[in-house]
Amino acid sequence: MKLCMVGTGYVGLVSGVCFSDLGNDVICVDKDKNKIDLLKKGKIPIYEPGLSELVSKNFKNKRLSFSTDLQKSVRDSDIIFICVGTPTKKGGSSADLSQIFNVAKEISTSINRFKIIITKSTVPVTTGDEIEKIISKKNSKKKFSIVSNPEFLREGEAIRDFTYPDRIVVGSDDSRSNRTLKNLYTPLISKGAQYLNTSRRAAELIKYASNAFLATKVTFINEIANLCEKTGINVEDISIGMGLDKRIGSRFLRAGPAYGGSCFPKDTKAIVSTAEKFKSNLSVIKSVIRSNENRSSTLLKRVHQILNNKIKNKIISFLGVTFKANTDDMRDSSSLIMIPHLSKRGAKIKYYDPTGIKKEFVNDRNVKYENSIKKAIEGSDLVIIHTEWNDFKSINFKNLSKKKKFIIYDLRNIYSSEKMKDQGFKYFSIGR
Ligand code: NAD
Repeated sequence: MKLCMVGTGYVGLVSGVCFSDLGNDVICVDKDKNKIDLLKKGKIPIYEPGLSELVSKNFKNKRLSFSTDLQKSVRDSDIIFICVGTPTKKGGSSADLSQIFNVAKEISTSINRFKIIITKSTVPVTTGDEIEKIISKKNSKKKFSIVSNPEFLREGEAIRDFTYPDRIVVGSDDSRSNRTLKNLYTPLISKGAQYLNTSRRAAELIKYASNAFLATKVTFINEIANLCEKTGINVEDISIGMGLDKRIGSRFLRAGPAYGGSCFPKDTKAIVSTAEKFKSNLSVIKSVIRSNENRSSTLLKRVHQILNNKIKNKIISFLGVTFKANTDDMRDSSSLIMIPHLSKRGAKIKYYDPTGIKKEFVNDRNVKYENSIKKAIEGSDLVIIHTEWNDFKSINFKNLSKKKKFIIYDLRNIYSSEKMKDQGFKYFSIGR
């Protein structure tokens, strides 16, 4: 079986490389020539732990190739995975499916034998039906099958998540496609992944419902953290106490900044929008979106309080600006709200992120990238630990505060409040 991944981003590249590592021939296609040229030279356009080694291993043994020629790659393949972006529509809240439909149109002109066409991108329920309509304009329905196989990997853990998934969801009622996909995924199923075969529409909705539920957990504990701060309770006790209940589970119950990234913000909005199209009211998810949108304001209010409402000319350093650790992804990171807010009010921002300088801040004269933790922290009035990189877990703050004492606001509860206070720091954290 020859596989073609259309869209060589976080999902297409990771799943393409992992499929090739399982012994399949994989062509990764992207319309971004720059990206493909980099990959052909063995350079990885994204930050994802372990990816570089896996790409070079499979590129060298010729199971993995890269191309910008979508039509030829489709003709040469048996299974085509659509992995392009589905961002929020500009000025709206529904998913912008233009990339998906453009790819579907291109595929429709390149079908030379039976193809299984799979959406791995996160797409609203009934998108598979639309893709089928587009492709059947130029092809008999006997020549192709449209399947939904949503991806659940997390950036930063993508290779592990792809290789050891909790579940593989395949939405199709075509027995030939189901047999082929079960074979393709057999190496993962034999390592313990649950294989779930559903209708195509159910598979599409499982992905959105899962993301909306996880976003709800994060938002829920963030609101509980607000209550803990007012009542002198440590939110971590609450997370542990709740998480021990098997019906609830402990994951995604860690209080912190607003959820961000390339999935939760856009997917929660898109599922609400889809529901409205079908005259259904997802009131729980709507309030999760509202609460999350307020989260950064809540944390900013706290920053104002910590600095006695004197923001102008204060030096504030951010440790980490990506939406989470182990990724370079800045999409919808809460730092994109917090840093401009503080900069507009006259603060001088310094930041350090292990994945380097960010284009999002280069035009702001009040914001400066520093290439080490030490340079970012020294001379600051306030240090905000924004992202939970391992690099930030054992900083010797005492040494760094010799020249000037600073306050610490730890949005990830990395440090012990007691120990920081014992060391003489004014230390603030979340929900404790
Ligand atoms: P991405 O933006 O990193 O990558 C998409 C790629 O598709 C880009 O490189 C773009 O150039 C390419 N592309 C767009 N149109 C194309 C075309 N016509 N031909 C060839 N290439 C084209 O996106 P991503 O983060 O990998 O997400 C892809 C999809 O997977 C989205 O629907 C997302 O919601 C879903 N998803 C993402 C994650 C994640 O952690 N990033 C996890 C699970 C699911």
